[in-house]
Amino acid sequence: MVAATRPDLIARLAAQTAARADSQLPRSLRTIDHADGPWLQLGGHRLLSFCSNDYLGLAQHPQLAAALKRVASDEGVGSTSAHLICGHRAEHAELEEALAVWTGRERALLFSTGYMANLGVLQTLLAKGDVCVQDKLNHACLLDGARLAGAELKRYPHADVDAAARQLASAHAAAALLATDGVFSMDGDTAPLRQLAGLCRREHTTLMVDDAHGLGVVGERGAGSVQAAGLSQHDVPLLMATLGKALGCSGAFVAGPAALIEGLIQFSRPYIYTTAMPPALAAAALEAVRLAQSECWRRDKLAALIARFRRGATELGLPLMASTSAIQPLLLGRAEDALAATRALEAQGLWVSAIRPPTVPTGQARLRITLSAAHEEIHVDRLLAALETLGLPRSAG
Ligand SMILES: *Cc1c(COP(=O)(O)O)cnc(C)c1O
Repeated sequence: MVAATRPDLIARLAAQTAARADSQLPRSLRTIDHADGPWLQLGGHRLLSFCSNDYLGLAQHPQLAAALKRVASDEGVGSTSAHLICGHRAEHAELEEALAVWTGRERALLFSTGYMANLGVLQTLLAKGDVCVQDKLNHACLLDGARLAGAELKRYPHADVDAAARQLASAHAAAALLATDGVFSMDGDTAPLRQLAGLCRREHTTLMVDDAHGLGVVGERGAGSVQAAGLSQHDVPLLMATLGKALGCSGAFVAGPAALIEGLIQFSRPYIYTTAMPPALAAAALEAVRLAQSECWRRDKLAALIARFRRGATELGLPLMASTSAIQPLLLGRAEDALAATRALEAQGLWVSAIRPPTVPTGQARLRITLSAAHEEIHVDRLLAALETLGLPRSAG
């Protein structure tokens, strides 16, 4: 009777969940009743939030909402099918064209989420026997994509170009792809893109940049980290970014040479076997692209808020990290300290998320503070005043 000893999968999962609840690491869902710019209403409380990725303050822009409503009224809500069946609409095509032009790429291809875009790219390009070299702090979906592809995944210490070079050199006969976040999601710093591009050129390696946190925020007219680094499609043939962060929508795209995009359409399973994003959402994202390009004041305002926060935090001796982006983490170390800080901030009407392992390495729990053009100076000052009351560890510097 082998079957009688077979473990029950849900019971095993429940045991894992219980073990996590005993640690400092359980994750919990909280339902927001209403969002009004950076203000969130939950359970009768109104909290000033510093945890959204709405860096340009576009998520609630009336022009985005109007585009969404217009196309939903005219075309319906759902796309009704995958892109390759009958789900690919004029709104998708127009958005893809605008994204390609903005990022200086030959073509762009929409995916329903960034997670799927990264799985789709890596699973299509890489096979068993290939090497995928990645920064240790890359987003989870880049790591998962390399694993799904069956490629050999080598992770180099954060931003260590020499270590990446050694990893590539040790596998010099294999086809290789090097993938990095443009702006790192939990640290807020920027990848050494120019050095990585030089390395990839010497090593005949395809460079992929995930610019989820750079597009819209950095570069000329918000064209992103790759543009800001002065790199072209030739240097970075694989550019991926999302529509759910600075653009305030949802979805993602991959941009690059026509041969890449054609190949993804043929072979990328997360592209082929899923329902196309709603055309109304594509129309809203196109509106967001136009605003992100033309309204430079949003980037200027965000930069001023970032500078104000860093100046204030430095004066208070807070444990800032080396970030100039909208992501301004305070490194606290222990998970319980990060949790306690979040709770104390909430008691003062502020919502800042505690990021704990396994999202970040053990001993590097932090408050992940994000700023947005939707914030005002008084909001930043209020955050600083609250942080001052917490008695956080002072920075080493
Ligand atoms: C958010 C994020 C993704 C995933 O994008 P979604 O559209 O939210 O699935 C991928 N990469 C990075 C670096 C991200 O921050």
